[in-house]
Amino acid sequence: MRKYCEKCGREVETRIITKRESYDVCGETIEVDAQILVCVECKEEFYSEELDNATLVWAYNEYRRRHKLLFPEEIKRIREQYGLSQRSFAKLLNWGDKTICRYENGSIQDKAHNSLLIFLREPENMRSYLTENEVSCIEV
Ligand SMILES: [Zn+2]
Repeated sequence: MRKYCEKCGREVETRIITKRESYDVCGETIEVDAQILVCVECKEEFYSEELDNATLVWAYNEYRRRHKLLFPEEIKRIREQYGLSQRSFAKLLNWGDKTICRYENGSIQDKAHNSLLIFLREPENMRSYLTENEVSCIEV
């Protein structure tokens, strides 16, 4: 991909390099191998939203691995296992309307939410949760 380099003052060839970078995820420093677009001539770094987003996803995933948090796909799978929409699942859990949607889209869930989701992954637990909370609108 050719880009205009301010330093070189002309269009240059670019390439992607890997660089160790620190990201702050929920107050914790996570080191990741970030992919960065640079000018082949002077090594000036260019901002690339796509690469930056990918790096952030890695940092978040590393944070999830460290804290044994569910991944967005796993949260989605739990929800779909019960045939619920994001909104109705959130309602069932007494969470904000958009909470499940945010988690499935990559936001880091808080620990208590994570534990409840893991607990409810078991249909047996879901059944007792529904009974305890007197929810009768869904079949498990
Ligand atoms: Zn340059």
